[in-house]
Amino acid sequence: HFLIQIDDIGREYIIGTEKIHALKSVSLNIKKGEFVALMGPSGSGKSTLMNILGCLDTPSKGQYILNGINVSDMSENELAEVRNKEIGFVFQTFNLLPKSTALENVALPLIYAGYSKKKRDEQALKALEDVGLGNRVDHKPNELSGGQRQRVAVARALINAPSIILADEPTGNLDTKTSIEIMGLMENIHAKGNTIILVTHEEDIAQHAHRIVRMRDGLIEDDYQNPQIKSVI
Ligand code: ADP
Ligand code: ADP
Repeated sequence: HFLIQIDDIGREYIIGTEKIHALKSVSLNIKKGEFVALMGPSGSGKSTLMNILGCLDTPSKGQYILNGINVSDMSENELAEVRNKEIGFVFQTFNLLPKSTALENVALPLIYAGYSKKKRDEQALKALEDVGLGNRVDHKPNELSGGQRQRVAVARALINAPSIILADEPTGNLDTKTSIEIMGLMENIHAKGNTIILVTHEEDIAQHAHRIVRMRDGLIEDDYQNPQIKSVI
């Protein structure tokens, strides 16, 4: 009944004769609709875990079951398929196509899903309206502010109705005011039933999440419900 079931996973990197245990033993269960902040110092294994969660990488040991699918031993192609269907990514650097409009950026994932152009544009417009950018659909990324670019990226992440949103330092390139706006948007998305996993260095940003997971040296050192959030799902 967990959306994400991670059981005793490890990930090691081999550099020359040296083995780096980026993840030693991590177990983590996440239910549909949770909003989790993943924190921890640099080098603690956050990116490694996010890459595995996002089906960009597989563990060296242990099991990862996502939405009932065992993705632990999948091939690159199988992983790509699961990724397109199950995961919406939001990045620190937005990762938008610079020559494409907001609408085209948001509609892009629907091309792979096989929708007609008309259907893609309709859905992308609706998604941009949902993030408050209905009046910016024909703007290219360099004609948008940082906060607006991240809104476009969030709309793109949501367009395929993924089962999880993975946000890696989504406010890392934004000023404080804009960061708060983007976190407000993440809260709205969560309130609609979406599952969000957010990596952040900033305590203030993590406080928007309902659950906080802290990593250190490839292990989870702490995992608790955020006491600052009153409503519990
Ligand atoms: P964080 O995201 O918390 O900063 P990472 O997951 O990036 O941590 O890194 C965890 C450990 O794994 C670090 O010691 C890092 O140097 C190492 N590591 C991460 N990615 C690689 C890689 N591709 N090759 C070799 N070592 C890596
Ligand atoms: P926000 O308050 O949403 O962060 P800004 O104050 O940065 O927005 O920008 C105000 C307006 O200026 C926005 O509507 C945006 O479309 C426009 N804008 C911002 N940066 C640029 C740019 N580099 N080129 C063209 N228009 C821009």
